[in-house]
Amino acid sequence: MEDLSRFCCLNERCLAYGSRGAGNLSVCGYTNPAKTHRQLYCRLCKARFSERKGTVFYRSKMPEEKVIAILEHVKEGNGMRQTGRLLKTKEDTVIRYVRKAGQHAQLAHRELVAFSPSNPRVATGREVGLRVQKTPALHAGGTGARARGRLLGSHRL
Ligand SMILES: [Zn+2]
Repeated sequence: MEDLSRFCCLNERCLAYGSRGAGNLSVCGYTNPAKTHRQLYCRLCKARFSERKGTVFYRSKMPEEKVIAILEHVKEGNGMRQTGRLLKTKEDTVIRYVRKAGQHAQLAHRELVAFSPSNPRVATGREVGLRVQKTPALHAGGTGARARGRLLGSHRL
């Protein structure tokens, strides 16, 4: 029995869409001749999809190590053209993989922060505090350093 607990159905119209470990998935084949990438089947909606769907490797013909190398170079601060030159890849290809990785990271971030408890001391709380304080300071006719001091004061809280 294969461990598919990290996967979920990716058909948005399926009842089990996004539910991991729901027991609706099984392996029904492979998507590459080397049989290293599994094809998954959802018994609820009958959808078949690659286990790599939704990741940066989906429909990629480039070796995984090279995709990872591209992303590592960019993560370390190299530009798109520089990364392409270092890895002997076209700049457009580097940009395409960085975009794909960005979309995947955004979705993963949304899923992870959805369950974070609200904390009044985090950055968003401070931003709200600043906006609330800023308006009365401007209406009160405060000028120059005094108004700025008040704004900076609230910003530090
Ligand atoms: Zn499904």
